[in-house]
Amino acid sequence: MRAPFSARPASRKWVMGLALVAIPLFGFDRGCVTEPQTDILVTTATKTIRGNIGRYDDSTLVWQENVAGSARLRVNGGAFLPWTATGSGNLWEFPNVALSLGVNVLDGETKRSTGSGTVNGPIDDFILERKNDLFANGSQPVFLDWSTAGLDAEIKAIATSTLSTPLTPAQQAAFVADVKTGIRNFFTNAYANVAVTLVEAPGTGVHTVKFLVGTGCNLFGESPGDYKNTNKTQTTKIYLHTFRCVMEDRLISTTPAELTDSVATRVEDVSTAIGRTVAHEVGHSLGLTADGEAYLHGCEGFHNCEAYDDAHPADRFDVGHHIMDAGPKSELFARIGQSNPNTRSKKTPYFEKYGKSYLQIIHP
Ligand SMILES: [Zn+2]
Repeated sequence: MRAPFSARPASRKWVMGLALVAIPLFGFDRGCVTEPQTDILVTTATKTIRGNIGRYDDSTLVWQENVAGSARLRVNGGAFLPWTATGSGNLWEFPNVALSLGVNVLDGETKRSTGSGTVNGPIDDFILERKNDLFANGSQPVFLDWSTAGLDAEIKAIATSTLSTPLTPAQQAAFVADVKTGIRNFFTNAYANVAVTLVEAPGTGVHTVKFLVGTGCNLFGESPGDYKNTNKTQTTKIYLHTFRCVMEDRLISTTPAELTDSVATRVEDVSTAIGRTVAHEVGHSLGLTADGEAYLHGCEGFHNCEAYDDAHPADRFDVGHHIMDAGPKSELFARIGQSNPNTRSKKTPYFEKYGKSYLQIIHP
């Protein structure tokens, strides 16, 4: 079921953009949108858009400075808005740009006069998606339920089977405690700036994350998909034996993890992987990533859609680095917060701007 690893640099679209404008015909400027964040959901009919014009070095492709000039934008390939000169701070501004309902793809261009002529630059395609069906829906408390028997043994087994140094019973107990703390921290950080917060007891209106042992090696967790979070009293199930099975089988062979890693490193690997799945399953029950163009452009059962990502100027899929990437397409090295399968380079799984903007609208 697992998709083979495919090299997919996170910055590939940026690299392509640089390659296109690096052809030294007109010099090397590019316009950059600074406000609002691009590739987000908005609920207003208009949006004020600001940005700058960067001058880049032709040979190194490195940004040099922001420069004065003019910019113009268009929405969905329509007529360009009039050229607007940069003002204070070399920023250009288009107040109250009208957005259609649904996906708006904006782009534009910049120009600047120099002693030897005019330098033109692109403002690359970006998405602002307007929706009118999303409303603030209070907060969502989440309770982590560790009451099932046998959970600690699964976590200890991960430690002892993936570390060459023998651990005393006390060290194993500390490993379990630190993993549980790490899971809480991962969850809290993933949902930062969203009113989805951990509480210490279950109840009406509280989402319960039920940790279970499980028996298989395929299902990390499950939860109901619930667009707009219409039911706050739902249950996520997380199966720890799956993490044990998968990590015993391929943590060392398919990720940068080594048998000689420190205990602290393994705590972070394990708590990141389990924490990501907890955040993922709770995300489903909040409505991420509802399938279909009328919802959140998800596919494959409420997951971030690689096909949509490929077809749009969007950042919606990256082999598991996004929290809502589909399970079969999420590589183990991404689950443990590493950028690649070979050498350690931290890349903590995250809700991309689009998913985060949805969460912030319904749970501000
Ligand atoms: Zn899922």
